[in-house]
Amino acid sequence: MTAESLIPKTELKKKKETIMSAMNTPAQPTTLEPVKFEQMSLEQETNPWEAQAARFDIAAKKLNLDPGVWKVLRYPQREIIVHIPVAMDDGTIEVFTGYRVQHSIARGPGKGGIRYSPDVSLDEVRALASWMTWKCAVVNIPFGGAKGGVICNPKKMSQGELERMTRRYTAELIEFIGPEKDVPAPDMGTDEQTMAWIMDTYSMHMRQTVTAVVTGKPVNIGGSRGRREATGRGISVVCDSALKYLNLPVEGCRVIIQGFGNVGSNAAKLLYEKGYTIIGITEFDGALYDADGLDIPSLTSHRKRAGTINGFSGAEAADKDELMTRECEILIPAATENVITSQNAAHLKCRILCEGANGPTTVVADDILEEKGVFVIPDILANAGGVTTSYFEWVQDRMGYFWTEVEVNQRLDTIMSASFDDVVHYATTHAVNNRIAAYMLAIDRVAYTTKQRGIYA
Ligand code: NAD
Repeated sequence: MTAESLIPKTELKKKKETIMSAMNTPAQPTTLEPVKFEQMSLEQETNPWEAQAARFDIAAKKLNLDPGVWKVLRYPQREIIVHIPVAMDDGTIEVFTGYRVQHSIARGPGKGGIRYSPDVSLDEVRALASWMTWKCAVVNIPFGGAKGGVICNPKKMSQGELERMTRRYTAELIEFIGPEKDVPAPDMGTDEQTMAWIMDTYSMHMRQTVTAVVTGKPVNIGGSRGRREATGRGISVVCDSALKYLNLPVEGCRVIIQGFGNVGSNAAKLLYEKGYTIIGITEFDGALYDADGLDIPSLTSHRKRAGTINGFSGAEAADKDELMTRECEILIPAATENVITSQNAAHLKCRILCEGANGPTTVVADDILEEKGVFVIPDILANAGGVTTSYFEWVQDRMGYFWTEVEVNQRLDTIMSASFDDVVHYATTHAVNNRIAAYMLAIDRVAYTTKQRGIYA
């Protein structure tokens, strides 16, 4: 029996489709005209790669980007597909498909998380890798952009299976990652433990401990203080900046958050501590609402005990999709992509949309939100706190000298509020919305470096 025959038929079909789609993607754009997203089908609208490329094209056109640089930056530099055999607990061998896409290394080593999810696809990883390039450039840290993913369901795998899969995935990528090449980090479905396994596997192959090969590690093996909360913390900083910019008070500022994972729960905790009123939280299996504000520390303890937000006595249960459309000052999608689309954007009643997740809003929804006057803090700015503290971790690992949590947080706050000011200033001076401003700012920085280095063509 071949290893492939052990893969369930549906998964095999999905893998074949993914590979075919990769093979059918042109290496170069056939046209430099921006995608006509008004005519997009819902399927195209919710394809993260199309969403990223559409924004890139709009921003590149406004920047009057040199056509050669446009082509270079529009596509990822390198895409790696690996098939990972894993010894399962029941004695069988399963084969998982994994990706690592390196979009750009113009400004420094590739940087970006690794996602374990049944929904991972090459187009998703490509989009996430490109977003990392733009995100690192928006906050002006010396990294390029990369992303990885493995098609698997981590919730249905044992720790042993996850460890073996992670180690073999790392071994397959061994010559492509490294402190000066490409530095992975956690994303959906991966955590500090996953990073520890990657660091250890890489170190075994190198015959020395190389802490700076990944970020988001446990603190005792080279992780940075403050990394776990960093994305949520960055979100709280840009929310403060947005309120100040729009002249709105923190007192009475109602917030609804989608997703109570790493990003959502930390954003909720920090905003709650700052005096914001968190009136709604949604999760994949339910939602909670309290017009007077949820008690976030009690909800966190409940979730730890019960394993779900459901059944929390301090709030009423709500419909998770409907809750997203209730009136609030700030809506924070912090779960996954494509949750604000042409289908629901018109119904949102928030003043500010702060994108904790990557790619939560489709390009068609952008126009609807702009017409409604929603102030958008785009993902490549709003959730950049994580990669910024990852940068601090990489710096500390390479120095072998570690900062206090206060030092880390102060540096993060400074970068996040300065980046917010940069984007808003760019939007005003170029008369574009915040998302296009963030893309233009980032593309301009990467294009400048690319031209300075020269294109090795
Ligand atoms: P996570 O897995 O810790 O949390 C995601 C949470 O969202 C989970 O609790 C999940 O149950 C919930 N969820 C999933 N689908 C949902 C739905 N349809 N409605 C409501 N809840 C849903 O992941 P995370 O690390 O918090 O990442 C969330 C998002 O933020 C992702 O888009 C990720 O790429 C992005 N992001 C994460 C970081 C980071 O540092 N972790 C940094 C930047 C961006």
